[in-house]
Amino acid sequence: MIISVASGKGGTGKTTVAVNLALSIPNAQLLDCDVEEPNSHIFIKPNIDNTSPVFIPVPEIDESLCDYCGRCQEVCEYNAIAVLKGAILVFPELCHGCGACSYLCPRKAIKEVNREIGVAETGTKGNLQFGHGRLNIGEAMSPPLIKAVREYSNPVRTVIIDVPPGTSCPVISSIKGSDFCVLVTEPTPFGLNDLILAVEVLRKLDIPFGVVINRSDLGNKDTYEYCAKEKIPIMMEIPFKKEIAVLYSTGIAFTEQMPEYKKEFLGMYKNILTKVKKP
Ligand code: SF4
Ligand code: SF4
Repeated sequence: MIISVASGKGGTGKTTVAVNLALSIPNAQLLDCDVEEPNSHIFIKPNIDNTSPVFIPVPEIDESLCDYCGRCQEVCEYNAIAVLKGAILVFPELCHGCGACSYLCPRKAIKEVNREIGVAETGTKGNLQFGHGRLNIGEAMSPPLIKAVREYSNPVRTVIIDVPPGTSCPVISSIKGSDFCVLVTEPTPFGLNDLILAVEVLRKLDIPFGVVINRSDLGNKDTYEYCAKEKIPIMMEIPFKKEIAVLYSTGIAFTEQMPEYKKEFLGMYKNILTKVKKP
């Protein structure tokens, strides 16, 4: 089973929920797909036993074969190739590695070469399996790295995915195929605004979901009213506590020091099991 943990915006406590959920349930695997800013490992401190570079194929032009017909530029949806009079330019950082240009070049003037975008790493901490991706600095092409991290999904484990914040392409790449999604929010106007956007995405993807309200005793009641009106289950509330904040700032998962919360995360997991669509 795959449970993704997402939030419409950063800073709501998404990683805290993903990490503590993974540490509280049996037989879990945590995959941190927030590859631009992975930080689950700070709290898990896994022993990394495998590091693999991840590449995307980008075009390389053999200008001795090219007649500058412009077909490759026409088919590239990402403006990664520009054909000028007697010259051709490739912008590898814009290329999504779709292969259309090399496939459709009438003169077979394009070959694909690998460009490294980051690394995928796996390891363990006790019985917990762990994986994450680290995107190269300045690199924009995160979905292929997210896909590489997701390929480590262990079908006999409960896979917890830490999803990048927001509602864009990397989020879809991370959430797609999940059995359930936990949306982490905080009860503030900004939190509610981004929660509404995330709910729209999950409804389009047809993935069952529920909400965790972090710092639940701050802010206002609008988020609760929205969830009631939209019939969205509130799976768990985490109050603002200085002890949790201090543990977070020192890189410690709070359930390690506050075991009473392990029971709450386990309870949420059992509740999720009742909401997952049956095959
Ligand atoms: S499609 Fe092939 S032949 Fe035409 S401009 Fe591109 S590389 Fe050159
Ligand atoms: S591989 Fe796809 S994205 Fe990259 S340059 Fe060719 S057509 Fe464009």
